[in-house]
Amino acid sequence: MADHTHLVIGGGISGLSAAHYALQAGVDTLLLEASDRPGGCIHSSHFQALDDFWVEAGGHTCFNSYGHLLGIMEQLDLLKLTLAKEKRSYKLWRKGERRGILSALHPFELLISLPSLFRIEKAGKTVSEYYGQVMGRKNYRDLLGPALRSVVCQEADDFPAEAMFRKKPRRKDVLRAFTLPGGLADIPRAIAAQPGFNAQFGTQVTRISAQGEGFEVDCQDGTRHHCERLTLAVPPDTARALLGEVAPAAASAIQDMGIAHIDTLVLAFERSSLSVEEIAGLISIDGGFLSAVSRDFLPDERYRGFAFHFPGDTLSEAEREQVACQALDARVADIRAKAHVRNQLPALRADHMTRIQALDTALAGGSIAVTGNWFLGVSIEDCVTRTRSEHERLFGALGDNASGDGAPGDALGGGASNR
Ligand SMILES: Cc1cc2nc3c(=O)[nH]c(=O)nc-3n(C[C@H](O)[C@H](O)[C@H](O)COP(=O)(O)OP(=O)(O)OC[C@H]3O[C@@H](n4cnc5c(N)ncnc54)[C@H](O)[C@@H]3O)c2cc1C
Repeated sequence: MADHTHLVIGGGISGLSAAHYALQAGVDTLLLEASDRPGGCIHSSHFQALDDFWVEAGGHTCFNSYGHLLGIMEQLDLLKLTLAKEKRSYKLWRKGERRGILSALHPFELLISLPSLFRIEKAGKTVSEYYGQVMGRKNYRDLLGPALRSVVCQEADDFPAEAMFRKKPRRKDVLRAFTLPGGLADIPRAIAAQPGFNAQFGTQVTRISAQGEGFEVDCQDGTRHHCERLTLAVPPDTARALLGEVAPAAASAIQDMGIAHIDTLVLAFERSSLSVEEIAGLISIDGGFLSAVSRDFLPDERYRGFAFHFPGDTLSEAEREQVACQALDARVADIRAKAHVRNQLPALRADHMTRIQALDTALAGGSIAVTGNWFLGVSIEDCVTRTRSEHERLFGALGDNASGDGAPGDALGGGASNR
């Protein structure tokens, strides 16, 4: 006998949106998340000792093109809380200096390469093949390659070009680029806090096995759950391991899919102790880090903050602090608060879309959904878009009120009760 109709494994935005849509559809659902907080890669580090000043340790920007996410936010009455991000420029960090982005541009090469934008197809090309042609090889090497590396927090050359910057329609009634008063983590928190939302944190799933028509799910804490349907919203290596027994063809379609580990150092300073100009962040060309994102988009009177993203396991914590402070012309002694966060992102490769097709073929007609940031692309909206289509495959089409077109807050009314 199933304890729940539906279990969701993973409480990042992919799993949270899966449980949210299931709640909307009235499907009795329990979400299991390994860590002690919702959000996964959406993680706003709050420093209580600094008047709750916060810095984004992961995802930092949502856009008015994030239609499915906006739909969920509308249902939770979050859209009225959005705050515009102030415009700041990214700088390059090269040879120990911060420089303007244009300093790395080869304008003549750009001029002769750019027309190819209208005749070259993205499909089937890697990022370096596609953008190397569209921008020119030198522009790719000196500017766009490092910029894209900083977007995906790892070498981007072999990424499928299709998974980068998919064009999505914009909503004119929503701020173009926005955050929330407590950072983007307000979104996962609000999803998990809604009435009828059933989640267990600190619960790592270790095994899925078949039980009759449904599934038995074992957790590291010794608990066991039974369900009729499952949504996996975990990184590809974990998905592969968990699918092995119950869906071997699906597991084999995603074998060897890589993961990039990222060590993120979050730093907060007294505004008065820093001389560095206000910036959106740094794109590192030759420093020990990949990129840095500042909190200057929402200036605080007293504090400034930065998240420096380093390739996983390359430097000690003390070395990371030194590298970050050097890039900010800051003294390590002036750090007022810090946090070390481990992030991870999928390492997508050129044959990625073929593997996803094989995975989807293996999942077709079954009772397992798989979602995450390794399908359409890594953005938050890519996650929610995949989740929604997987929800509809398992449970049928969502009503109009789930698309975000309804009045704010109206969608939770009827769908919130579990059955
Ligand atoms: C530094 C950084 C900056 C980014 N900036 C942006 C941005 O500005 N805008 C944007 O749109 N996107 C951004 N992204 C990308 C986006 O934030 C992520 O792709 C997205 O949040 C991933 O969500 P997810 O739920 O698919 O995966 P995750 O957030 O990785 O969540 C997976 C969850 O599964 C849990 N889990 C894993 N194994 C198990 C298990 N066995 N049992 C139970 N739970 C398990 C994990 O603890 C985790 O919480 C950024 C990402 C990073 C890392």
